[in-house]
Amino acid sequence: MADEHREIAAVQALHRIDPETGAVIPPVHLSSTYGRGSDNELLGSIDYRRPHGPTEQHAADVIARLEGAAETRLFSSGMAAIAAVFETVPTGGHVVAQTEMYYGAKALLNRLAAKQRLSASFVEPGNLEALRNSVRPGETDLVWVETPANPGWKIVDIAPTADIAHAAGAPLAIDSTCAPPCTTRPLELDADIVMHSATKYLNGHSDVLAGVLSTREITPRWAEIGEIHNKTGALAGGMESWLLMRGLRTLFIRFERQSANALAVAEAMQTHPAVESVLYPGLPSHTGHEIAARQMTNGFGGMLSLRLKGGYEAARKLAAGTKIFIQATSLGGVESLIEHRKPIEGPDSPTPDDLVRLSCGIEPAESLIEDLRQALA
Ligand SMILES: *Cc1c(COP(=O)(O)O)cnc(C)c1O
Repeated sequence: MADEHREIAAVQALHRIDPETGAVIPPVHLSSTYGRGSDNELLGSIDYRRPHGPTEQHAADVIARLEGAAETRLFSSGMAAIAAVFETVPTGGHVVAQTEMYYGAKALLNRLAAKQRLSASFVEPGNLEALRNSVRPGETDLVWVETPANPGWKIVDIAPTADIAHAAGAPLAIDSTCAPPCTTRPLELDADIVMHSATKYLNGHSDVLAGVLSTREITPRWAEIGEIHNKTGALAGGMESWLLMRGLRTLFIRFERQSANALAVAEAMQTHPAVESVLYPGLPSHTGHEIAARQMTNGFGGMLSLRLKGGYEAARKLAAGTKIFIQATSLGGVESLIEHRKPIEGPDSPTPDDLVRLSCGIEPAESLIEDLRQALA
């Protein structure tokens, strides 16, 4: 489907007009239970809101269209979606993930490994040779990739990664939280499952916690994810799903502005004397730029990191010294955020002491750049 058709589907939430009232914006369905008629037949299509009511289903359908997915399911958070995927790995199964990735997902994998629920290997994001050496044909049950990868934004080439996973008999799942479907569609690049923390770009207003899984095909593993979704009940609420659908209407335009802002900030910071390096896939100097230019078709996103010459202290001072960038965790919202990452991720994290992570919002770029300059001065 052409990008303009995807964008229209997002803006109009699939052009579904409420047949009963003519409402252009759908109502929120909060009912947990659904009625039956004289022969016990359901009046609508569901009997109960677990695993999904009409509002959750509508939001899932919009995301499925954007991803080109056979089906999409909404979860109560990104972590709940990740946990559902890890739950499909049989006991003792082998998972390959990344040395650099969302620290919460890595902590969950390490926890499962410590309990001998599964075994995990970690490879550098984008190092295909290391991945080839880490997968064990017939034994590896899941390859888990995040691209761009927190917090250095290394890029993983999805199509050849899928080939390596599939040759070993393992499905490829992508955490594409920082590359929403307006810019990257991993399922079209042969990934099997794509995951998002919808808390971030998909909702975009920092007022919803939700997670998403979408699948390229209906497979036995996907059926198992459906069972886990229903049996463990980590579901998105009706109100959250409605807010998420509202956020999705402006995804394309938000992401475009956030990408333009991040590029402007990255370019301005590249020559700042206090900055050691700028990590942003949109810069030609970034190691993954060429792949990103091909894989992120509509912008490199709003996330970048700065490494500062002054080390830990300089990073702490910058994060505390901005007046427009808000010192807070999370990403993808319309408001710009700044975070000194190391103290958040803890002593075991490979994140450098001197790294400050920026999530660019939609404020004027010049004001964001000026804010960083005054805080670095
Ligand atoms: C935030 C985030 C998650 C976790 O999502 P929650 O909605 O906070 O549970 C997973 N992966 C990435 C890349 C994230 O940024």
